[in-house]
Amino acid sequence: MRIACPHCGPRGLEEFLYHGDATVRRPRDGGAAPTKEWTDYVYFRDNANGPHDELWYHSAGCHAWLVVRRDLATHEILHVKSARDAA
Ligand SMILES: [Zn+2]
Repeated sequence: MRIACPHCGPRGLEEFLYHGDATVRRPRDGGAAPTKEWTDYVYFRDNANGPHDELWYHSAGCHAWLVVRRDLATHEILHVKSARDAA
């Protein structure tokens, strides 16, 4: 699998580190958030079968955080953008 880094161009998977689901958001109220929100944030993830946004780090390249939209059924990479642009 190759990821087209927006800064470096297409690179091999071994240059990147996977950091999980890019759609998960930390509860806004910190310690005041209900336990259920924290439990959902820490433990529960959707088991998607199709396009999904993932967070990747270009550790052996430009050190950029990337949001990679990948089809989990086919492993096809549909889109790559800087996490800064996605925020
Ligand atoms: Zn890069």
